[in-house]
Amino acid sequence: MKTFTFTVEGQEIIDYLPGQFFMLTVFGVGEAPFAFSSIAGKKFQATIREAGTVTEALHKLSVGNKVGIRGPFGKPFPLEDLQKAGTILVVAGGIGLPPLRSLIQYIHANNFPKQVILYGARTPGDLIYKKQFEMWKKKLKTEMLVTVDRGDQKWKGNVGVVTTLFDKIKVPEKVKVVTIGPAIMMKFVIKKCLELGIQPEDIIVSLENRMTCGYGKCGNCGYGKYLVCKDGPVFSYEQIKDIKGIF
Ligand SMILES: Cc1cc2nc3c(=O)[nH]c(=O)nc-3n(C[C@H](O)[C@H](O)[C@H](O)COP(=O)(O)OP(=O)(O)OC[C@H]3O[C@@H](n4cnc5c(N)ncnc54)[C@H](O)[C@@H]3O)c2cc1C
Repeated sequence: MKTFTFTVEGQEIIDYLPGQFFMLTVFGVGEAPFAFSSIAGKKFQATIREAGTVTEALHKLSVGNKVGIRGPFGKPFPLEDLQKAGTILVVAGGIGLPPLRSLIQYIHANNFPKQVILYGARTPGDLIYKKQFEMWKKKLKTEMLVTVDRGDQKWKGNVGVVTTLFDKIKVPEKVKVVTIGPAIMMKFVIKKCLELGIQPEDIIVSLENRMTCGYGKCGNCGYGKYLVCKDGPVFSYEQIKDIKGIF
C-alpha cells in the first residue's frame, strides 16, 4: 500500500469533498475508482493497495509519470449534519482509513465538534498514517484509539478487533458514526452501534462495488435500487439496511 500525491495539469485548485472519489487511468492498462484521502487543495492524495491490474501498474510508476484523472464523483459525507452532531465517532478498519483521513483533516480544518477515532488493522505493520496519529491526538477535541488483531513483540497497544475499542470509550448520546472498512468489520460495527441505541440514520458507511463509468451511466455498481457511484458511495445505514448481500 502506498500514498500517492497528484497534481492536475492546468488546474490550480482541485475541488472535492471528503467521501467523494475519482477514476484513475494508468495509460494502456485500465481505469479504477479511488477515494480522496486528503482534503482539497493544490494537490490531493490517495492511498492505494496493490489489488490487480491497474493498481499493480500504478505501483510500478515513478514520480513525475502521468496518469489520467476523472472526477470528483459520488456523494460526500453529510458534512452539515456531522457538524451539528455532538460527537463524530470515526471507526476505520484497514484500507477504510484513507477516505476517513480526508474527513478527519476536514473536521480539523473546519473546527467541527468533538471527534473520537477508533482504528483497527490486522497487525502493527498494517497500520497506515502512523506518523499522523500523534498529530491528530494533539488536536483539540480529538480522541484516538488504535488496535491490532495480532500484536508483535514491540506492540504495547490494544489487541483485538476494532469493536473491542467501543468498551474503552464513553459513547455519548448525540453521536454520529462514520465507519469504513471490510464488509465484515462494518457489519459488526453497525451491530454494536445499534446495540448502543444509535439510530440507523446516524450510522454512515461508504460502500465499494466494481464500476466502469463513475457517474451513473453504465449501471454496473448497483446495490438494490442504488448505484454506488451516483447515489453513494456514502450511505446512511437507514438507506441500505434492507438490501441483502451488502455485508
Ligand atoms: C468508491 C471507491 C473507492 C475506492 N477507494 C479505494 C482506495 O482509496 N484505495 C484502494 O486501494 N482501493 C480503493 N477502491 C477499490 C479499488 O477501486 C479496487 O480494488 C479496484 O478493483 C482496483 O483495480 P485493479 O485493476 O488494480 O484491480 P482488479 O484487476 O480490478 O482486481 C481487484 C480484485 O477484483 C477481482 N476481480 C477482477 N475482476 C472482477 C470481476 N469482474 N468481478 C469480481 N471481482 C473481480 C480480482 O481478482 C482482484 O481480487 C475503491 C473502490 C471504490 C468503488
